[in-house]
Amino acid sequence: MKNRKFNVKIILVVIAVLCLTFIVTACNKANEKVVTSPIYEINLCYDGDRTVKATQNVCYFNNSDGDLTEIVMALYANAYSESGKPFTAQNVGAAYYDGLSYGGIEIKSLTVEKEKTDFTVSDTKMSFKIPTLSSGKSVNLSLEYEITLPLCNGRLGKTKDSVNLSGFYPQICPLKNGQFVCNEYSALGDPFCSEISDFFVNVTLPSNEYKIATSGKITEAKEIDAEPKKIDYEIIAEKTRDFGLVASTALKSLSADVDGVTVIYDYLSDPEPETSLKIAESALTTFSTAFGKYPYSTYTVCETPFVHKGMEFSTLVMIDDKMTPKERELTIVHETAHQWWYGVVGSNQFDEAFLDEGLTEFSTAYYYKATGDVETFSRLIKSHKANYQLFSEYSASNGSSFDGKMSKRLCDFSSENDYIVTAYDEGALAFNSVYEIMGEKRFLKAAKKYFKDNAFKIATVDDFKNAIDKYSKQAGKTLNAWLEGTVKL
Ligand SMILES: [Zn+2]
Repeated sequence: MKNRKFNVKIILVVIAVLCLTFIVTACNKANEKVVTSPIYEINLCYDGDRTVKATQNVCYFNNSDGDLTEIVMALYANAYSESGKPFTAQNVGAAYYDGLSYGGIEIKSLTVEKEKTDFTVSDTKMSFKIPTLSSGKSVNLSLEYEITLPLCNGRLGKTKDSVNLSGFYPQICPLKNGQFVCNEYSALGDPFCSEISDFFVNVTLPSNEYKIATSGKITEAKEIDAEPKKIDYEIIAEKTRDFGLVASTALKSLSADVDGVTVIYDYLSDPEPETSLKIAESALTTFSTAFGKYPYSTYTVCETPFVHKGMEFSTLVMIDDKMTPKERELTIVHETAHQWWYGVVGSNQFDEAFLDEGLTEFSTAYYYKATGDVETFSRLIKSHKANYQLFSEYSASNGSSFDGKMSKRLCDFSSENDYIVTAYDEGALAFNSVYEIMGEKRFLKAAKKYFKDNAFKIATVDDFKNAIDKYSKQAGKTLNAWLEGTVKL
């Protein structure tokens, strides 16, 4: 029944998308390439312990100029297997609250256009052949899989109070120059790169006590008559970069309407949930004014046991439930800024970690200036500078290498500190330099242009440079110096 219901839905969506494609193609005078997003319909069933069974249909459009004969999918869930390394040495202890615990994903079956198809799985990558798919044509895939949840406070895992479900589904890697971009997993940073997609998700939970915080919007919640009673949620997340959810029997919820956006705060133990909701509202409003309007109808912040402190997903962020009020405030502002720099404007977080993290850290500091707290803005920038200087001096004194180059892949950082100082502290300082050279007015014009020109795409630092070059040539040169690590503080 569920599958059939979603099949009807997906057919309607596909027809609508194809009609829209025709209209856009017909009207497109600027010759901008028409891109049709993949459509995922996922049915999940959680057993209340460590198993999630799923079926998934994907309608995938070949947006490249050439033929495709193969598809590559990311299986991020396999990072949690015994051979994977989802956490840095620094985080392992806090992540595995009950000792080491492993999980992963097992693909039970794959069909391509209803034909059973063989596939190869290697760590977090799955690949398989498809009949030649011409440019602009689509193919339908169906997968059946089972996820084993590790007992951990990670992006995917069963915590003591909740289930964190992100990166759980096989995701088609984005295409760049006709090749699938499939990053290896990295415990450092966020090794993700994904394209905008539409998600239609149904999740069945083992008791009607379960609440969820999710990407997109819950369109229906209904109890299933069983012993004990189950609950079934239907969710739609359109034009999002990924899909995630948190399920828990302990979640409480507050919400507010902000200029047509429903801002939701789902929390476990926050003693001042109203304050946290207000921060999310204020950050959303501030960044909408500064960079361009938030384009979704919902934004959800969810408190859950979470070793990474905070993590952005499209229209959803997870924040750790054990933070001081100040940490919580900064984390909410930071993760909200990611809705612009990761969510709407995507990037390859493995190749250019500074691009979303540096701009997000600078935006976090700027939030305070924009809301009248110039002192906190200055303090945050000063603290980035102090961290950068301290780490440079420390590295020089003990002979370890710190080249200060921002344009490095995650696998090229020598340590977690190297990554954090480079992507976050140096990144924020680099964007602050651009801000200082351009002045607030021109910087915001450039940021708005970067947002508008790259919305729903995967941007690179060159796209950012193109946006600022329109308003200042000098700022672009300064950014180059930061990228090469030649700036001396
Ligand atoms: Zn971040």
